[in-house]
Amino acid sequence: MINIVLFGPPGSGKGTQAKFLEEKFNLKQLSTGDMFRYNMKNDTELGQLAKSYINKGLLVPDEVTTDMLRQELKLHTGFAGYIFDGYPRTISQAESLDQILKEDLNDEVSVTLSLKVEDEILVQRLLERGKESGRADDANEAVIRDRITEYYTKTDEVAEHYKAQNKYAEINGVGEISEITSKLIQEVEKVI
Ligand code: ADP
Repeated sequence: MINIVLFGPPGSGKGTQAKFLEEKFNLKQLSTGDMFRYNMKNDTELGQLAKSYINKGLLVPDEVTTDMLRQELKLHTGFAGYIFDGYPRTISQAESLDQILKEDLNDEVSVTLSLKVEDEILVQRLLERGKESGRADDANEAVIRDRITEYYTKTDEVAEHYKAQNKYAEINGVGEISEITSKLIQEVEKVI
């Protein structure tokens, strides 16, 4: 299988690029952000809990997020692999993902693709996205900056977990979307 961790700060283009990679390699994108938004929209218990963190720019607790991801993974079979988008965001989640892949699929992460974008560009992109999508967490610059701070305090160190396993590639996330896609595809092709 091809199991890709798509990595990068909020607004780095993970969702956009995941769509292209899904098509190219017959993968299923699993976005924890999308799962939370679905639950918030339908006002489920999980959605209400998630909302109290998301609207402050904080991460939802690991256990809640990991249980949700594991259940969702079981629902999608028949693909050549998965793209994990927005998960793992903490070292503990990275350890959980290794364990889940091993236990449920007898498999492992193939590569982590890390999109690099400067903070000020991220803020501008997210404010723009907020105007169109109506996402509450994209409407407010303070919440956006808190999410970027959460990224650097909790998520950035996840990179070390994968660097230590030699499963880490950095890609410049600024430029033409199609050029960025090509670079990501090249990195995936190295591991298949
Ligand atoms: P972004 O555009 O900020 O990358 P996502 O759509 O991936 O955002 O996620 C939106 C919000 O959902 C995050 O700011 C966070 O509060 C919550 N969230 C998503 N994935 C996770 C995760 N793996 N662990 C904890 N919280 C998460």
